[in-house]
Order: sequence, then structure tokens, then C-alpha cells
Amino acid sequence: MASTDNGKAMMSAFDSEAASFMVKELRGTFAAGKTRTYQWRVSQLKSLLRIVIDHEREIIDALRSDLSKPVLEAYVSEIAMLKSSCEFTLKQLKRWVAPEKVKTSIATFPSSAEIVPEPLGVVLVISAWNYPFLLSLDPVIGAVAAGNAVVLKPSEIAPATSALIAKLLRKYMDTSAVKVVEGAVPETSALLQQKWDKIFYTGNPKVGRIILAAAAKNLTPVVLELGGKCPVVVDSNINLKVTARRLIAGKWGLNSGQACISADYVITTKEFAPKLIDSLKDELEKFFGNDPLKSEDLSRIVNFHHFARLVELLDDEKVSGKIVHGGERDQNDLKIVPTILLDAPDDSRIMNEEIFGPLLPIVTVHNLEDSFSIINSREKPLAAYLFTNNKKLKEKFVRDVSAGGLLINDIGIHLANPHLPFGGVGESGTGSYHGKFSFDTFSHKKAVLYRGFAGDASARYPPYTSWKFRLLKALLSGNIFGVIRVLLGL
Ligand code: NAD
Repeated sequence: MASTDNGKAMMSAFDSEAASFMVKELRGTFAAGKTRTYQWRVSQLKSLLRIVIDHEREIIDALRSDLSKPVLEAYVSEIAMLKSSCEFTLKQLKRWVAPEKVKTSIATFPSSAEIVPEPLGVVLVISAWNYPFLLSLDPVIGAVAAGNAVVLKPSEIAPATSALIAKLLRKYMDTSAVKVVEGAVPETSALLQQKWDKIFYTGNPKVGRIILAAAAKNLTPVVLELGGKCPVVVDSNINLKVTARRLIAGKWGLNSGQACISADYVITTKEFAPKLIDSLKDELEKFFGNDPLKSEDLSRIVNFHHFARLVELLDDEKVSGKIVHGGERDQNDLKIVPTILLDAPDDSRIMNEEIFGPLLPIVTVHNLEDSFSIINSREKPLAAYLFTNNKKLKEKFVRDVSAGGLLINDIGIHLANPHLPFGGVGESGTGSYHGKFSFDTFSHKKAVLYRGFAGDASARYPPYTSWKFRLLKALLSGNIFGVIRVLLGL
């Protein structure tokens, strides 16, 4: 069953014909120029802001229902993030939409030049379930700020949030330009059969390949916000307590590890691992008590499929005897306690798949600098983290480790800086967003050169004489004396 923008739940699937009809309507709105005006963009951003401010309670309830997300986490990592993204965009938009004057060159003299950002047209946003409110609406902020018409397809795996988004967008937004299609694979596939001007997808790399293949048919540009195994390198010269607290917040405090930028695995030295594990255990007990399955501050696993997947990672015989903390689970509540494993073998599933849950393997090395080559021998992650006080190690990390983003001495919070692009590289994605990068992602940078009729040099026109050749050669290589020599007939 699908629900579309007219608000009716339909027994028949949202098929390719319905999708085509929807895109046609949006193309009409876009062609009429409605979404291009600055006023329209501002009004839509203000409506998005109203949604976030006026419906805080409903949003928190939906996130509770989908993920049992703690109120503080729901507020900080979804509501507040979205509010500040909207406010930042509203504040900066006038500057972003203005054409940017650029220098001109000798080859085009006399002329002036500028870069004019223009909307792409009709764009599709497909989002994931783990931060279902933020990941759906943050790209929509960029799309409308840049003046596009947009279809949003929230994740069916967070159904309460998906339904709430559909309801609120219908109520607050201009539905001739902003539409929501709820549904799963059939509905997404129907959407993917259409021609879009950009597809912005958040989710796993396997589906990312399906999106890219569908987009290729129409040469549609894509942003793929994917995931991967985000490593955390921990040095021994750190503030142990702060490191443990930040690691816990960046693993179990991020939706029970169901976050693309959550710590996937830790690398530290053999000597330091026991100290780190002891400190993690101490702080975990302070955070979640001695029965974490009962803790209100720990999100549950989103559904049975993902719960079973995580249990399989833990029950893999290759990691038997490697659990040094936790391991308990409650299938009825879909909860797994914070679990730490030490030196799971390289060929175990947990060391080869994105964990996306509350399990933290710790890998030990003899020399911490070996950790950089371990990271670089794997697919490029969305984020990589380093805890250290060593300046040289920080420099080496920044220089040598390739990842979507790097963060030193914390986990995950780099995405809260709107001046930094957020996105992956290689297997963790392509393209980026946040702040001005969102606006740019949904804009085409149109190159415009202005010329007058004066100064029409005949040297560029046939017949091509050797005098013209020598003059243009000197001119284009910036050789002023050569130009003078040719002009003087020397
Ligand atoms: P998901 O199951 O919600 O899927 C994402 C979207 O893809 C959904 O809207 C879904 O309907 C659609 N989809 C699923 N299968 C499809 C198919 N066969 N054809 C077309 N569309 C399909 O989310 P997920 O993939 O489980 O999300 C988790 C993954 O996303 C992790 O890898 C995580 O790291 C990554 N992620 C990345 C970011 C980021 O910003 N880079 C953020 C969140 C999650």
C-alpha cells in the first residue's frame, strides 16, 4: 500500500504511470518559474521551520515509535539539527543566490564574467530510516533553497516518521512543487523509472548501485550518501575518561550505533587495550546502569531483520570467546546491550560488514601508526576518527587517511558544522551537502560571459596569415613584448 501526496492511502501500488503523472505536474510548476523566485524559496524554508518548531512533540513521538529514540537524542540529533540548518539557510540564502563576479582572461578581452547559480529542475530525495526526520528534510532544505521542485521518498522502515512527514509537508508546503511519496521498493522503483534532474539518495551502498544504474539511463547526476566501517584510532597519551565518554556517545549514544558516522571499530595498541576497555566499562555503567536492556537512554534496533543480522554477527563462531563486555539481547524489545569484542579475526563477518548497531570490535596493533595502513587497506569510510595528543600523529592522520571526513578527539559531531561538506568518498558515497554545500548540490553553476561590440580584433578571423598567427601566439602566451614586436613589424 502506498500513500501519495493527495493524502489518500491507495490499495493499488504507486506505479510508474502515477510517478510519471506526478513528475509532469512538477515540471509544469518548475517551467512556470514559481520555484525560482527568492520569495518562494524563503516561504518554503519558513514553512519547514514551522514544521520543526510547531510539531516537536509529534516528531519526538514518531521517533520514539520507530526507534524508541530517547527524547534528548531525538531533539539534539534530528530536531535541533534541522532547525539550525533551516535558520542558517534562511540567513545565507540571499548571498548564495547572487551571481558571483569572476575575473576575465586575456583570451576573452574585453569582457566581464559571472557564475549564476540556477536550479536543476525536478529532483528526487530518497532517505533512510536511522535519522528518518533529519535525513528526509535536510536535503529538501537544499533542494528548495536552490529553487527546485522536489519529490521526497522517506524510508518505509521508519513508518511513523514517514507518515508524519507526509502529513506535515502536505499541510505546510506548496504541494504543486514539493511532494512526498511513501512506500518501499515498488514505489521507489516507479520513481526511479522517471527522468530526474538530480537524485539524492541516503542508504546502503548496495541500493546505491541500483540508484546509480537507474540514473545513468538519463545521465542524471546523483548524490549518494552511503555508509561503511568508520574506524577510531585511540592513542595511549589521551585523557582516558573523556575519550571513553566520547566513544560511548559516538557509538551507543548515536541511536545504539545505527548511525552512518558511528564508530564501527576501534584500533589501539595491545598494551593500551585493557585500560581502554576498563574505562569503557566504567563509563557504560554510569551511562546506562547495570541493566542496559532496561535503559530508556538506549535506542532499540529498528526491526527484527536488523536485530537478527546483529545477533548473527555476534554469534558467528569466528568471534566466539572474543566478547569482553555485554552480548546480552532481548528479542521482544529488539534491544542489544553495548557489546565490546577484542581482536575479532580479520575474516569474521563483524570485521567485514558495516555493523550499524551496538557492537564495538577493538583491534589491537603493535605500533599505532600501523592502524593507518589498516584503514587504507579497506574501502574508504564515511568518517575516520583519531584520539591523540600527539601533533605529529594528527598531521600524519590528516595527510594519509582517506575518508569522507576526519574528526580528531571526538566522534560524529563534525556533521554539525555547516561550513564543512558532509559526504563520502569511494564506497562511502559521492557528493556532499550541509550548509552552502546543500545549495550547491542542488544548483547548476551557470557560466556567463558578457561582451560588447567594441574591440573586435580581426586577428581571430580568416584569412589566417602568419602575422595573425604570431600575434595571437604572443597574446595567448601573455608575451607582451612579443605582441609589441609583431605590432611594430619587428
Ligand atoms: P533503508 O532501508 O531505509 O533504505 C534507504 C532507502 O532506499 C529507502 O527509502 C528505501 O525505500 C530505498 N530502497 C531500499 N531498497 C531499495 C531498492 N531495492 N530499490 C530502490 N530503493 C530501495 O536504509 P538502509 O539502506 O538500511 O540505511 C542504512 C545505510 O545507510 C547504512 O549503510 C548507513 O551507513 C547509510 N547511511 C548513510 C548516511 C549518510 O548520510 N551518508 C546516513 C544514514 C545512513
